[in-house]
Amino acid sequence: MKRSIIRFGHDDIGDWVATLSCGHLQHVRHSPPFINRPWVTTKEGRKNKIGEVLNCIRCDKSEFPENFVFYKKTPIFTEKSLPSGLKNDHSTKAGVWGKIIIIEGKLQYRVNSLGTDTELSPNIPGIILPEVLHSVAILDTVEFYIEFYKEPDCLTKQPYPE
Ligand SMILES: [Zn+2]
Repeated sequence: MKRSIIRFGHDDIGDWVATLSCGHLQHVRHSPPFINRPWVTTKEGRKNKIGEVLNCIRCDKSEFPENFVFYKKTPIFTEKSLPSGLKNDHSTKAGVWGKIIIIEGKLQYRVNSLGTDTELSPNIPGIILPEVLHSVAILDTVEFYIEFYKEPDCLTKQPYPE
């Protein structure tokens, strides 16, 4: 899945890492002669790459970014109170991940672009990817809510590395 670069930083050993709009990190090393990204070594070069897209295989696998923090949740919905908007394709904004938590019953969760159509249950939460269209469908009785997660503020306010 294509995701744009929002900033750059270093990993523990000083290699350059791009943060993508989904929150996933991706190494952008310059180690010639095998990997040639001379642009990453200059501030100007990195600045020019902000907004460019990289392929994020972690998104393709619906990998929840482990450093993301919970910030809000919906009320509890049932098969009777399910907002109709959730039955049609809709998405969260950039950088916002969600988890569909089933308290009781089951719910069908469809993500067309990933080709997934999953029956959620109390043991199988649904992972909502930022900006990716998805929908749910009632199968039977259900009680569920949705949790939303974002990057910790300490990261988004981090000074731009030189
Ligand atoms: Zn990603």
